Amino acid sequence: MHRVVIVGAGFGGLSAARALAKKPVEVTVVDQRNFHTFQPLLYEVSTAGLDPADVAYPVRAIFGRTPNVTFRYGTVDGVDWDARTVSLEDDDPLPFDSIILATGAVAKYFGIPGAQEFTFPLYTLADARILRDHLLRRLEEIDAHPELINDGTLTFVVVGGGPTGVEVAGALAELLDVSVRHDGFKFDRAQAKIIVVDGLNRLLTPFKVSAATYAADTLRRRTVELQLGRMVKRVTPTCVELDDGSQIPTRTVVWAGGVTVDGTVASGLGALADRSGRLVVRADLALPDHHQAYAIGDAAAVPWGEDRPGVTCPQLAQVAIQSGKHAAEQIVNRVKGKPTLPFRYNDKGTMATIGRRAAIAQFPSGMVIRGTLGWLSWLGLHLIYLIGFRNKITVLVNWSWRYLSWTSGPRIIVGDELPANPEEEDHGVDQPAHQPETVDSPA
Ligand SMILES: Cc1cc2nc3c(=O)[nH]c(=O)nc-3n(C[C@H](O)[C@H](O)[C@H](O)COP(=O)(O)OP(=O)(O)OC[C@H]3O[C@@H](n4cnc5c(N)ncnc54)[C@H](O)[C@@H]3O)c2cc1C
Repeated sequence: MHRVVIVGAGFGGLSAARALAKKPVEVTVVDQRNFHTFQPLLYEVSTAGLDPADVAYPVRAIFGRTPNVTFRYGTVDGVDWDARTVSLEDDDPLPFDSIILATGAVAKYFGIPGAQEFTFPLYTLADARILRDHLLRRLEEIDAHPELINDGTLTFVVVGGGPTGVEVAGALAELLDVSVRHDGFKFDRAQAKIIVVDGLNRLLTPFKVSAATYAADTLRRRTVELQLGRMVKRVTPTCVELDDGSQIPTRTVVWAGGVTVDGTVASGLGALADRSGRLVVRADLALPDHHQAYAIGDAAAVPWGEDRPGVTCPQLAQVAIQSGKHAAEQIVNRVKGKPTLPFRYNDKGTMATIGRRAAIAQFPSGMVIRGTLGWLSWLGLHLIYLIGFRNKITVLVNWSWRYLSWTSGPRIIVGDELPANPEEEDHGVDQPAHQPETVDSPA
């Protein structure tokens, strides 16, 4: 039987595996985590709106009853193209006839001093849980020592004004509101600062200007300060320095400044890559030099297809899902001796939320829905996708109740206080870049 190895159980890898279920191939999905992460809701976990288990699902539970799909828990550290094997850290290599590379991306720091060491990225479930613990600790700290307000304990900087930055900033404002209104914190809410910094002069570049203006106005109304047209020059454990020389004292910098494939396993395979490290693929999504290998999702420079020749798709869940399915179908075509077909992206629009009852949904026609209607569309779509993975109506009921009744959010500190970077003075702050990759076990 034709052996297919899928590296990565993100949106792309799972979509490919689903498309190969019950087909005449033997599929092994490999991932360094035993669960799928629903990244679009990580910001909710990081701001204590949702539990980690609400946005993660065990891969084995998805394919446990699919006879031709198995799961291997392991970290891939290379591919031997001649031997056609995938090498795993601390384990025997896995042979393949076809391979789908779906390893996603990681945070990009642009070489900014201190960014990697002293900011909180938001890409994995562990990142989100670590950030949540850190935020809640800062609130406890300021409650016990109100004088710490002067050293930035109640100042939260979000670097990046794209969808993730906007979503985090909006949700952070809500966390602060709910902490004061419902949790008995005594700090002066008006003195808490959330600052979004972006080098461009507007937020949300994938969206129309009117939608970006709506997002900016909504954030400002929710007490978020925008520092647009400003670049971050340096980050230290106690401040962020901007390109105009100004310094923002803070203990918390959330990094939503972009992603890259450089540094992931995909970038070390000796395959052709573009400037951001994404694997270059042919029209049918196979690697130009390895026709039995396909790259999909964030890890690949996925071509938009005949509707927009020469254009590369953005790194979005829909692109990963559609490219995963397409790669799987091409493998089946090859197994059946049929020619492979070019990929064609079906753009279904883009969404971003700015907080409860405020979101924007932009459709390919250019139409934008915003406000409560936009938020309800956003909520409905995300619920549908989560149900797709969990397939249980009870989860929908529990999850939506918790989401809608925000006072019941999981505002709990789970992890231990992490040791400060030994090379730095002990400022009592978490050091995100040195965190172990542990997360709450799904409840
Ligand atoms: C915070 C955040 C918010 C987002 N919000 C949205 C949104 O609202 N809408 C939207 O469309 N998109 C959103 N995105 C983008 C979207 O999540 C990605 O485009 C999508 O997840 C890409 O899917 P993928 O399968 O390519 O990669 P991923 O989903 O990142 O999956 C990659 C998988 O590969 C595994 N892996 C990596 N390296 C190895 C290795 N060496 N060995 C084994 N396994 C490995 C990882 O553990 C992971 O499970 C968001 C992304 C982030 C980070």
